[in-house]
Amino acid sequence: MPSTRASATTVEKKRPHISAQPFTWDNWHQHINWLNFFFVILIPLYGFIGAYFVPLHPYTALFAVFYYFNTGLGITAGYHRLWAHTSYKATRPLQLYLAAVGAGAVQGSIRWWSRGHRAHHRYTDTDKDPYSVKKGLAYSHLGWMILKQDPKRIGRADVVDLDQDAVVIWQHQNYLLSVTTMAFLFPALVCGLWGDMLGGLVYAGIIRGCFVQQATFCINSLAHWLGDQPFDDRNSPRDNWITALVTLGEGYHNYHHEFPSDYRNAIEWYQYDPTKWMISLWKQVGLAYDLKQFRQNEIEKGRVQQQQKKLDGRRAKLDWGTPLDQLPALSWDEYVTETKQNGKALVAIAGVVHDVTDFIKDHPGGKALISSAIGKDATAIFNGGVYDHSNAAHNLLSTMRVGVLTGGGEVEIWKNAMVDMVKDSAGKGIVRAGNQVTQVVLPHGSAVVA
Ligand SMILES: [Zn+2]
Ligand SMILES: [Zn+2]
Repeated sequence: MPSTRASATTVEKKRPHISAQPFTWDNWHQHINWLNFFFVILIPLYGFIGAYFVPLHPYTALFAVFYYFNTGLGITAGYHRLWAHTSYKATRPLQLYLAAVGAGAVQGSIRWWSRGHRAHHRYTDTDKDPYSVKKGLAYSHLGWMILKQDPKRIGRADVVDLDQDAVVIWQHQNYLLSVTTMAFLFPALVCGLWGDMLGGLVYAGIIRGCFVQQATFCINSLAHWLGDQPFDDRNSPRDNWITALVTLGEGYHNYHHEFPSDYRNAIEWYQYDPTKWMISLWKQVGLAYDLKQFRQNEIEKGRVQQQQKKLDGRRAKLDWGTPLDQLPALSWDEYVTETKQNGKALVAIAGVVHDVTDFIKDHPGGKALISSAIGKDATAIFNGGVYDHSNAAHNLLSTMRVGVLTGGGEVEIWKNAMVDMVKDSAGKGIVRAGNQVTQVVLPHGSAVVA
């Protein structure tokens, strides 16, 4: 829809924009963008009422589906990927075709649509995003069009390139002519070839237009709400094949927001992206050129980082034992006293003191062995002297930490281990298998693998 910018400038200037005022019985009609309401709600409503009275001719049905795909492509391959994102270049005949069928999709001029869409990418999920999903699913789908928006609130977007594009300018200046011709007149005339002008207007014109509108609106709503986030989860865009199915391939929206100038939305061969297929077909026949594509290396980097972030989240939920620098330090004599005189079941391994009280009865190697280690330095015994404990055993042991020994050479081992420790995205140390602080490689020959 064309914007109704500055239509309210004659109203008292000091008042806040209507969108900032609450709905009342007196002002509700001022909240509605009536031009958009007419094209998005009222006309489709007439169409559905008309369908009750006008029978559906099979040729008209076929043409409606065919024209649905064409006008849909006008938005996805034209408005979106060609003009809003300049992800490829089109020859003049292709530009004219896309501008024409795009007008037939009843979604405003290329210039208006692209300006809003560039702001959407730049300010995703913020107040400056014209269709921010943070304002609710219904708002991101339809509300943003039907309700007036403060043009000053919507983020700035550069459209200098579009202002130099003759096709874009012509279509913008002659939008009402373009939309009525391409959305309603043209399909009616085509269906007139088999004597069904009225059916053409109702089915291939109005109802088809309504479906294209609703499908495209799903990119702003559903694609920001439903699906996976394989590349970045800091914002709302999501990948989902269902959204892709209704939007001619625009459903891989998490990818699209990460790599917006890529002419593809789906990057896997099995994903549904007919818009991409058409663009590459146009390239084959010489209608499109300079198709932009991000390097696979960059795409994989994003994917790996997101996987890493998810992994960090899972790791953070696990008990890896109290960090060593948060444990109380005790001398060797204090350690021995705690066990011998105070009767605590403490075992020192690699300079770390563990309380094994609750574990003695569960020790797979039996009570006797673990009890014999109490009050001693069990580093060698634990690391192969008697039994070369498993990775899982080292992990479990770390959860029993209660203190660290000072003064011993072994303290230096874990100090070094802590410094060298790889940190996750939250700054927490990553304990890799085989790299726990209690894992000590004994001098050759001292290990007895049981
Ligand atoms: Zn988006
Ligand atoms: Zn986009």
